[in-house]
Amino acid sequence: MKQYSNRVSRMGFSQTFVMSNKVREMKAKGIDVISLTLGEPDFDVPDNIKQAAFDAINQNYSHYSPVPGFLELREAVAKKLKRDNNLDYRPNQICVSNGAKQSILNVLCSIINDGDEVILPAPYWVSYDEMVKMLGGVPVYVETSIETEFKITAEQLEATITPKTKALLYSSPCNPSGSYYTREELKSLATVIAKNPIITVISDEIYEFTNYDGKHVSMAEFPEVYEQTAVINGMSKAFAMTGWRIGYSACPTWLATACEKIQGQMTSGANTMAQRASIVALETNPKEYHYMIEAFAKRRELVYNLLKEIPGFKVNYPKSAFYFFPDISFYLGKTICGKTINNADDFAMLLLEEAFVGTVGGVSFGNPNCIRFSYATSEENLTEAMRRIKEFLEKIQTF
Ligand code: PMP
Ligand code: GLU
Repeated sequence: MKQYSNRVSRMGFSQTFVMSNKVREMKAKGIDVISLTLGEPDFDVPDNIKQAAFDAINQNYSHYSPVPGFLELREAVAKKLKRDNNLDYRPNQICVSNGAKQSILNVLCSIINDGDEVILPAPYWVSYDEMVKMLGGVPVYVETSIETEFKITAEQLEATITPKTKALLYSSPCNPSGSYYTREELKSLATVIAKNPIITVISDEIYEFTNYDGKHVSMAEFPEVYEQTAVINGMSKAFAMTGWRIGYSACPTWLATACEKIQGQMTSGANTMAQRASIVALETNPKEYHYMIEAFAKRRELVYNLLKEIPGFKVNYPKSAFYFFPDISFYLGKTICGKTINNADDFAMLLLEEAFVGTVGGVSFGNPNCIRFSYATSEENLTEAMRRIKEFLEKIQTF
């Protein structure tokens, strides 16, 4: 007899991994599928970072590290936050975890009680919603649209706050929309948050470096909300280190201590070799890794121009991250190849099965009208994927 906890029953699988697994299974059967599912850079880890990991093995960094991470790494994170974001943090405010995903979960575990509300501007990253539900919290969605670059306003935020609101959780740059909040926009949100001292802002900045305008702003830059903000970042996207599983949070001290407490009972801390390598990554001049951002910027142009040509797609020009999130509502309610398309997930399945391109439908991102394309893959793959989708959709238009 299956004896699931209520916790596991009320949450869903990660849709990003569900779709990428489907692609993997099709490929294993010899089917030629192009995956634009997972958001992970296709680059190799830079050589100096790899060398630091080899060195760490040879230097026998094989024992437990302090639970929140090696002091040298927390110092490197603090220096990075000063260098890139003009933020002041002490090492005891930083907790290094198994990916930014765990950093977010640590913070949520530290503050959410049953029934507490967490505001999620939609579209949001798939795991936010499920993490909140897992912890017994209540996600409260704020709707946006492609016309407003999928961003919320201070008025919307204010209208959503209730006495039960415990947190605001968003990513800027945003996965999946590719938008980012400007300084003025964040300032207006900060003004609302500062009036509600019980609210913690979880500011997920993992796509900071893929801000093509170079204008990343952190919520923690506003002194009035510094004590209410948890900054989340990590190595996955900036250094193509997704599999190395290193992320971090920078919080007010009470919250950092709570994260350490949780982590000390849950994982004992992050992998030591990856931590040592992360010190080198963070201490290297970001210019050394700029080639990845340049490649993403080029791919963005390529995909934008090809996506615009696809019938029935409404596309905006994302200014950051490495995703497109076109509105495909033109196809909703239609029956295509014998399948009724009720929402964007049905449409993503259609593209996978009929055009052999893997994407992720927007339902689990909180927007059933859009699908997400990750363009963190080669220009060749991107061109071919767009060709397949266009050809398929043009063909069905003629029926
Ligand atoms: N936040 C956002 C917005 C993401 O897209 C991801 C996916 N990588 C994460 C957090 C988690 O990243 P990781 O756990 O690999 O550091
Ligand atoms: N964050 C990436 C994505 O959105 C990787 C998968 C995941 O962690 O959900 O595709």
